[in-house]
Amino acid sequence: MIHTPLAERLRFVLFGKRNAGKSSLINNLAEKPLAIVSSHPGTTTDPVIFPMELGELGPVAFVDTAGLDDEGELGELRIQKTRERLLTADVGIFVTPSCDILTQKEEAMLREFQKTGRPLLIVFTFYTGELHPSKQSLTSYPWVGVDNTLPSGIPDVRKRLLSMKDLIQREPELLEGLVKENDFVLLVTPIDLAAPKGRLILPQVETIRELLDRDCGVMVVKERELSSFYHRLGIKPALVITDSQAFHKVAADLPFDQKLTSFSLLMARKKGNLLPFVESLRAFSHFPPGGKVLILEACSHHRQPDDIGTVKIPRLFTQMVEPTATFSWKKHLTCPEEVEGFNAVIMCGGCMVSRRHYEYTMSLIQEKHIPILNYGLFLAWVHGLLPRAIEMFPEAYERYLALYT
Ligand code: SF4
Repeated sequence: MIHTPLAERLRFVLFGKRNAGKSSLINNLAEKPLAIVSSHPGTTTDPVIFPMELGELGPVAFVDTAGLDDEGELGELRIQKTRERLLTADVGIFVTPSCDILTQKEEAMLREFQKTGRPLLIVFTFYTGELHPSKQSLTSYPWVGVDNTLPSGIPDVRKRLLSMKDLIQREPELLEGLVKENDFVLLVTPIDLAAPKGRLILPQVETIRELLDRDCGVMVVKERELSSFYHRLGIKPALVITDSQAFHKVAADLPFDQKLTSFSLLMARKKGNLLPFVESLRAFSHFPPGGKVLILEACSHHRQPDDIGTVKIPRLFTQMVEPTATFSWKKHLTCPEEVEGFNAVIMCGGCMVSRRHYEYTMSLIQEKHIPILNYGLFLAWVHGLLPRAIEMFPEAYERYLALYT
């Protein structure tokens, strides 16, 4: 992989009414015709993502969305998609023609975005120095005026975005606070039927890269060789990180005082918040007979025999939690109503989606007060490896001790 995955890029979401000039703005920023531009309103129907490098901000992705005043049944669905993109944005870019009145729909979406507390840039398009009186108050935000037909205002847009650097909240890194320079870390990655042919999966690759960036030593073994290598090391690893599916065997092969966690727990901490998972454990241990479990996987990876989401988790759940539980699968939630009727949700690690997206999905589930776990915590819990697997995450560990000991 030579490109930064989309999940690791800051998302700049452009929103505004139809024909506000969003697509021209994207094309001018990219210096090439990426989006179709037309005077016909509603040319952009679905959100379109354009990855770019943006100076000190690094890899970013601009998201062009359908107009807020889109019409008809399909239009409503597109507006819902725009809203979802906006609520998972790192920065909102409100694009609005400088001399048009501020519409109610524009105002409503602006208010909705402001509730997120994330940085907002206003871009006045077709700008000739004049603003409609209804838009004067928007100049209290960072703003730029551009002549949409020419790329002349684009350096100002870039400059404005770069000046927002300190306001943008970045995802924590996988190993933040867990290792230091010169630490030695041991990774355990089973190469079983479910492993992709010829490569490691994204969380493993990211972990290795981050350990190298942090000047740590790293060694990778399969679970079968772990015990033999571990006892020949002559140095105690600062941390052992295992694939969660091998958690049970790895924990049994290591001394009890060896710090141990899983890629999936690291990913869960990077993408979201471990506390709701820890708080949900009690509900999982009182799961009702015949209860329904929703398994959420954020991408459509190629399914292998003994796939974790469709085979292993349901098997373990019926063996260790509730034999009469039934399962459904989804990739994506659009509203809280979609989880109504379920007694629990189990989410994947979310390596292919951004933290904003993962948190947004969690918030939809929490709105309906449905217990929620991720794969890593579920596997650690059913194998009796808690609280050991979360010992190095102080907040989650303390909450666990407070609730369950
Ligand atoms: S299903 Fe989830 S954890 Fe698995 S690869 Fe896709 S995003 Fe990553």
